[in-house]
Amino acid sequence: VKAIGRPEKAVVTTCAYCGVGCTFRAEMRGEQLVRMVPWKDGKANRGHSCVKGRFAYGYANHKDRITRPMIRDSIDQPWREVSWEEALGYTAGKINDIKARHGARALGGITSSRCTNEETYLVQKLVRSVFGANNVDTCARVCHSPTGYGLKTTFGTSAGTQDFDSVMDADVIMVIGANPTDAHPVFASRMKRRLRQGAKLIVIDPRRIDLVRSPHIEAAHHLPLQPGTNVAVMTSLAHVIVTEKLYDEKFIRERCDWDEFDDWARFVSLERNSPEFLEAVTCVPAQTVREAARLYATGGNGAIYYGLGVTEHSQGSSTVMTIANLAMATGNIGRPGVGVNPLRGQNNVQGACDMGSFPHELPGYRHIHDAETRSVFEKDWGVTLDTEPGLRIPNMLDAAVDGSFRAIYIQGEDILQSDPNTRHVAAGLEAMELVIVHDLFLNETANYAHVFLPGSTFLEKNGTFTNAERRIQPVRKVMEPANGYEDWQVTQMLANAVGANWNYTHPSQIIEEIARLTPSFAGLSWERLNEIGSVQWPVNEKFPQGSPVMHVEGFASGKGKFVVTEYVPTDEKTGPRYPLLLTTGRILSQYNVGAQTRRTDNVVWHDEDVLEMHPTDAENRGFKTGDWAKLASRTGETTLRVLVTDRVAPGVVYTTFHHPSTQANVVTTDFSDWATNCPEYKVTAVQVMPSNGP
Ligand code: SF4
Repeated sequence: VKAIGRPEKAVVTTCAYCGVGCTFRAEMRGEQLVRMVPWKDGKANRGHSCVKGRFAYGYANHKDRITRPMIRDSIDQPWREVSWEEALGYTAGKINDIKARHGARALGGITSSRCTNEETYLVQKLVRSVFGANNVDTCARVCHSPTGYGLKTTFGTSAGTQDFDSVMDADVIMVIGANPTDAHPVFASRMKRRLRQGAKLIVIDPRRIDLVRSPHIEAAHHLPLQPGTNVAVMTSLAHVIVTEKLYDEKFIRERCDWDEFDDWARFVSLERNSPEFLEAVTCVPAQTVREAARLYATGGNGAIYYGLGVTEHSQGSSTVMTIANLAMATGNIGRPGVGVNPLRGQNNVQGACDMGSFPHELPGYRHIHDAETRSVFEKDWGVTLDTEPGLRIPNMLDAAVDGSFRAIYIQGEDILQSDPNTRHVAAGLEAMELVIVHDLFLNETANYAHVFLPGSTFLEKNGTFTNAERRIQPVRKVMEPANGYEDWQVTQMLANAVGANWNYTHPSQIIEEIARLTPSFAGLSWERLNEIGSVQWPVNEKFPQGSPVMHVEGFASGKGKFVVTEYVPTDEKTGPRYPLLLTTGRILSQYNVGAQTRRTDNVVWHDEDVLEMHPTDAENRGFKTGDWAKLASRTGETTLRVLVTDRVAPGVVYTTFHHPSTQANVVTTDFSDWATNCPEYKVTAVQVMPSNGP
């Protein structure tokens, strides 16, 4: 306090980085933010924080911030700074012209998991009710869309089942395709506390992540599977549980459809689904699978936590359903200490999905085909909605190349850097007549934009974020927006320029509308949130205090649904030209494509992506740590330095995607989840060759 001086003002708000959703006291001197202090009453963090939330806020005042709107007629022209009035008039003119020539379905938008619930709600409302079609999608397309599909199909609700505190009641913790130490550090600390108290740990991950062995923690079982074989591993676990009769018959008979369980049980019992049969596919010793299955089924409360190592596969949705099957079969649902919990990467992935950001679903995960739901929104919004689901992000890009999709509004998302097969994304953007980027910085996607609308940071706005445990928390304005407007105001101005007549004056009115139209949020209001601090949805007449644990008395859809999930190998194959498998992830000090963390002066370590390679593979290719390497796939190539480590298995290499200089997604493929098109980031066949550097 002495070094930075006493704060003159403090505002309690919510971190805008990961899905843990830590609460902070933002301390100000004058107009300057001097310190972020983890807030002891924050229900998600209880006074703790990680390096990103605590120190990485400098990007808010970074010189790269764009604070005035810009336009240009074509992407080879220089940007021209203009007034808000001119930018919005120009954009609206183009939108109305394209709509007149090509129809409403030629227009679309992308919402951001970094923006507030109210902002994402307005973007989907803009696309559906002002543009006039359902071409709205969100960055969850490339991360947790399989969670939405898989948990809705099995449990009836697209959300994790527990609050974070629940982990303290777990006896067995299974972590699948997630690295909480780096990606969800504050929750990881709570999990580690429980592990140090004696809970048993099963890790299913191709890498030997920190949790496998760290001070005072040793996983009971690590299943270092071959990337792309999640369904095979989960099915072999189920085989053991069913054939050794370790399932919870009482729970299944009471809470699930017994006939569906029976079909599933017969399927997983097949010899071809045994750990011994599948060992050749998964590379996990059969005995390890058997012991892990027995531990999960019989070790007491079993809790599953998973991440993008589950979802970002061609069988991402299937894997989510295998996890749900396993939890239902063992009765690990509906009480503290159990459950199935997706660890969300971005701060508001859950919220963006809740708010109707998918092309087939209105807010609250209700299908656009449902006439009754449509009529609720039509009456409130005073429009007639398109009855057909719109396009997903990859389909928008395909349709742009074909000429039928002409314009896109992208809020807070850098799809050129974050989405797979960069060349294909660039081709789709280049083919469009109008690309509107609404962001803090001139990101990579803005290279293809015709309109740039400056965005506001989480420090400059009011609203709410929903974290990975469905906790809706207030975001409070700490400073005035550098560009003059909060993001929800910009979307409103754009809607009105195109012809709407919206007149929200505060996000509290948007929350009121969301609560009025969405049963799971019916008990929500800005005033109530400010009184109680936070609440976990569903919050309504049935659950007036919110819902820390879901499915306590029954599943939303009545009975839990077992789904047969056959393992199907990915089409991405290794071979003589591309003999290694690349998988990707993130590190503690950086966040996603690094737009914010790379612009924060006090977080300077890890300033490049590196390629982890097993000593055997490194020796075979003559690499030592620090050497430059060319990483090539069927899709493209990039250059980065090698880190020799036995954290990865022979035949597997690993990197992160935080730096545009690496552009790791140049090498990832177009393969995607069969149900949701979530890209298969986690499996790319590659070759690694010596290089002199970029
Ligand atoms: Fe922010 Fe996540 Fe770190 Fe908490 S754990 S401070 S929410 S980045």
